[in-house]
Amino acid sequence: MPYNWNGDFIPSKADKSTDILGQKEIGGVGQLIYHPFRYRDYILTNDREEYCAFPVCRPGYEPDFPANDSVSGKGLLVSLCNLARQIDDWDNKIPYDQLIIQWCKENMHPYNIDFVYGELTEDSFDITGYDAELAARDSIFAINDFMKDLGALYTTALFYEALEGICVANEDAAYDLYREGKYFEGLPFFESFKGIHSMPDVDVSQAGGSLVKEMQIYAEYRKSHPEEQPPDGQFVTEPYDDYGNLLNKLIERIPDFNMRLKINPKTNRIEFSADVNSVFDIAWFTLARMISEDPAPENKGKSEDRAEDIMICCRHCGAFLIRRNGRQEYCDKPDCQKARNAKNQREFRRRKRIKNAQNQKKNTAKT
Ligand SMILES: [Zn+2]
Repeated sequence: MPYNWNGDFIPSKADKSTDILGQKEIGGVGQLIYHPFRYRDYILTNDREEYCAFPVCRPGYEPDFPANDSVSGKGLLVSLCNLARQIDDWDNKIPYDQLIIQWCKENMHPYNIDFVYGELTEDSFDITGYDAELAARDSIFAINDFMKDLGALYTTALFYEALEGICVANEDAAYDLYREGKYFEGLPFFESFKGIHSMPDVDVSQAGGSLVKEMQIYAEYRKSHPEEQPPDGQFVTEPYDDYGNLLNKLIERIPDFNMRLKINPKTNRIEFSADVNSVFDIAWFTLARMISEDPAPENKGKSEDRAEDIMICCRHCGAFLIRRNGRQEYCDKPDCQKARNAKNQREFRRRKRIKNAQNQKKNTAKT
């Protein structure tokens, strides 16, 4: 309250330097405790109006519990993003519901995970009885919900990658971010740098204040007025100059997390942990941690502070991966490694050419 009972303004006595309590002060915040389990199969069918996945939970189809270490937050984030990439690929011929079920069988059941885990691990749990039916019922999820959650995560991850790119003067991903996928539409946050200032008269009132809608209106305007376009592939104004704003847009897209006490099965101790109900909660939390550990934008590219462990997109095929070191830019696929070698050789020849030219200069200067 900045006002007292008399209505006079009271300046805040808060010390701004202590407003942020770091992990050191609080300790342990940011742990992520979750309980993975997998169903062996699902049946896809309608539940009333909604197209849903029904897990199979009966003798012969016992759910299995992967070791905690085998399903990491980073692994889930990367594999969900790559699942989205495949679903969104115009060349992909496998229906997305099949891909989703395959993902769930290979990784973990996606929704209501803590609650169902509790049911499945009850001492009295009986796979032949009503318990199994109940757990299966509590695990049903709508394919549309999965697609919606996946799309939000994927487009935000791409936005994050593009934002990382502009810090190291690699603007390709940012320039191409707003594109129409097969199912997921890229975020339009970089569109305003393609020449918004040359069209002050666009009416954006129908956007109703929605930033995304406004950007879409601008993008539509540009499509219909190609004569006002800058050369293709180049921004008119520098997105990096507006980095703070862009970063805020990224932050706004990350959902809030509830923290609560949970028992860590590894240590058997009570710890503060984010409340996770779905694999998307886990992925968002992992992404949020990744972003919160980022160095300041001006230190990106040069700092070796967090060389490893951040998610990047392969520069050749676009697949998501967690990089092993600060230099890694390509995934391990043979084609991508070939592309990397070719690029390195081009670089090498380029540097050699420059060196030769410099030597020649020196020699001519001497004679
Ligand atoms: Zn690759």
